[in-house]
Amino acid sequence: MRLVLLGLPGAGKGTQAKRIAEKYHLTAISTGEMLREAAKEKDTFGLRVQEYMNKGELVPDEWINSLVKSRLQEKDVENGFVLDGYPRTLQQAKMLEAYLQSQKQNLDAVFFLDVSQDTLRHRLAQRGNLRSKEKQGNSQIEAKREKIRLDDKPEVIENRLHINKELMESLIHFYKERNLLYVINGEGDFDNVFDNINEGLLSVNK
Ligand code: ADP
Repeated sequence: MRLVLLGLPGAGKGTQAKRIAEKYHLTAISTGEMLREAAKEKDTFGLRVQEYMNKGELVPDEWINSLVKSRLQEKDVENGFVLDGYPRTLQQAKMLEAYLQSQKQNLDAVFFLDVSQDTLRHRLAQRGNLRSKEKQGNSQIEAKREKIRLDDKPEVIENRLHINKELMESLIHFYKERNLLYVINGEGDFDNVFDNINEGLLSVNK
């Protein structure tokens, strides 16, 4: 299976992508994680990526397209994948479609995790709070270190939501036209959302 998870920042794509990947033996590919790894290198590319991420802006399509294209050529992707955080623009969606076509492949489904703006703001702010608490040396927060991100600051959160909202609408339209879109209720806890996705997957496989 080749799947895409769409959702605004805070919709829970990362968590659900990992669960789907585990259950269906797919490879989860998160462009956010790929970019955070690239940023850690602190080379010219990494530093520029970090600048975009700190502002909550998208990195240029050409950069992410070429990263994704080479990732899709790796061996572990042969049995299928679930993409999280990609595509984020129409240009990216078209590149993905063209690339898969060139490999005589196609997507099986695109799940849009539908979550209200209020819930998104609340979830992102919570991630941000964890970060500030950790700075004050609260060791209970230590275990959650990986989840803490520099872009979960209030002003950056607003920017990420704003930038992604309109783009999301065009992506939803793009995949609806191709009959690939499944709208999943993304409110509620992670188990509920996972059940909703699994239900959607049942109809994909019919
Ligand atoms: P979120 O969905 O919460 O914004 P991600 O981890 O998916 O989190 O992405 C973090 C940041 O990485 C984004 O704000 C953006 O700067 C960059 N990014 C991730 N995926 C893409 C993409 N497909 N195109 C451009 N930029 C991206």
